[in-house]
Amino acid sequence: MSETAAQRTAPARARAEIDLAALRANVRTLRALAPGAALMAVVKADGYGHGAAPCARAAVEAGATWLGTATPEEALALRAGAGLPDDVRIMCWLWTPGGPWREAVDARLDVSVSGLWALEEVTAAARLAGHPARVQLKADTGLGRNGCQPGEDWFRLVGEARRAETEGLIRVTGLWSHFACADEPGHPSIAAQLTRFREMTAYAEEQGLRPEVRHIANSPATLTLPETHFDLVRPASPCTACRPAPSWAPPPTSGSAR
Ligand SMILES: *Cc1c(COP(=O)(O)O)cnc(C)c1O
Repeated sequence: MSETAAQRTAPARARAEIDLAALRANVRTLRALAPGAALMAVVKADGYGHGAAPCARAAVEAGATWLGTATPEEALALRAGAGLPDDVRIMCWLWTPGGPWREAVDARLDVSVSGLWALEEVTAAARLAGHPARVQLKADTGLGRNGCQPGEDWFRLVGEARRAETEGLIRVTGLWSHFACADEPGHPSIAAQLTRFREMTAYAEEQGLRPEVRHIANSPATLTLPETHFDLVRPASPCTACRPAPSWAPPPTSGSAR
């Protein structure tokens, strides 16, 4: 009998059976494709309906050291009840004003911050918690959704984050962004976003930030664009849960991000 995670719709018109052994094998394959980078398994939206907790556990067993969700609620649920090792890092990025920042700080989540409003809310929570929040600054490199704009906005956010870090309220653990069209090989936005990401991370590092991880690669970028791997790659669980075609072979690699 194979080990599976099953999610059933009600009434049972459709059923997805996720082969966790295949998921583990695919996570290992993806790690081999990005040997210099850590792997974050993205298990948002209940692991795309595949069951976030079993998929997260399987990914971690296969070497994922990070998990990613969209909402803080999903991330808190993973931390509280998925039976994961304590040192697994869990990141979430879909914040709204008044969100559960304090719970996130207490649960040692890595939280995405795209603007000053979010930085203010997370530093207030850290002050109450009495220990630093793990913050990852999100750069909008061209997606046009949920990130800090380059230029003045970025300069100000980086400056304020650095100040909060020197005050011991936050630790800037990451600098990150998201591709718009990485699934269209050769799309001109890919190179443009990558250039902007390099500029924005370089500026932040000049200002004294020392992120553990810089990351921009989603599933297609993990598979086909080694120059985008930086310190961490973020393939999603549909990518890790599907069974590769028998003829599938990793594309040739040519150099890495740093
Ligand atoms: C959903 C998501 C991913 C993975 O998505 P794919 O494009 O399907 O690989 C990676 N990073 C973020 C921020 C996401 O929201």
